[in-house]
Amino acid sequence: MNLERLQADEHVFSGIMRSRLLSAGMHMSDFRWLKEMGLPCERLQTHKILNKALIESMKRYDDQVSIEFGLKHSPLAPWLLSISREKYLSYLTNESQPYKMPAVCSSLQKVWRLCPECIEEDCSEHGFSYWHTSHQHIGVQVCAKHHCLLHTHDELFKADFRLPQQWKDTSTPIQIEYEWQYLWQPFMLQLSAALEEDVTLPERLRREVFDYFGVSGNLLYRERGSFDEALKVMEAELGESFFKHMIACFELECKQKTNPIWVVLYDYDVMQSRARHPIYMLMVLFWLRDKLPSLGWIDYEWRIRLS
Ligand SMILES: [Zn+2]
Repeated sequence: MNLERLQADEHVFSGIMRSRLLSAGMHMSDFRWLKEMGLPCERLQTHKILNKALIESMKRYDDQVSIEFGLKHSPLAPWLLSISREKYLSYLTNESQPYKMPAVCSSLQKVWRLCPECIEEDCSEHGFSYWHTSHQHIGVQVCAKHHCLLHTHDELFKADFRLPQQWKDTSTPIQIEYEWQYLWQPFMLQLSAALEEDVTLPERLRREVFDYFGVSGNLLYRERGSFDEALKVMEAELGESFFKHMIACFELECKQKTNPIWVVLYDYDVMQSRARHPIYMLMVLFWLRDKLPSLGWIDYEWRIRLS
């Protein structure tokens, strides 16, 4: 059976959900249907980027496994800050499982999000709504097109083959609680869009961060302590809630806290052959957003509609 054709900005899992809803196999369990379709029997979660479910789903749609497909139909763009395009493609084409979920992110990052205005538009244009890729980026609470608050529901930690229109009456807006979250929305959405277009941007940003800290080569592990002072400044400037929203060890108030500056500067790839989560680089870029030339173009004058 063919899968439903994906729409612009539609998450690949959304295409699979729509295919399931239109298939003759509604009497089957979800897992059995996935198996019959040759898809991995895994939960469809939005925050996992290089797991088997996403990789296999992409291959069902695009056997050439192009990076362009991944960018349009999964929230991959920020991951290009922490893994190269070549490495990403090698993960897609090799059967290896590089992905190990790092202990990062608050529950916000893990739920599927929907925009009530996109639902209206999509239903009138196509007759159905679908899960948008751009609504699923890290920490995003606002629709890039409508600038209104996205909605979610506790049960949307995983997708259960329901489309956004079926959640419209039970989902609630994700409230913006902190000042930094107003800035995070334009930062994250515009940066993700730029990363889709500009293949040179990740390396430029990485170089600018290294230059900012005066690091020219690989650091030695024993130099770690010297970046703890920088972390103190970063914590003071961004505030406790920022760190608690981004990294679990701050949320859980662990004794040993990850220093995102160190993670970015220290060459993890030498030590570990697995993919690194981009949250650390995003945190550092957000902190230095006014200081790095390659981020100077981002427009923060968005009027976010709160109701
Ligand atoms: Zn929208």
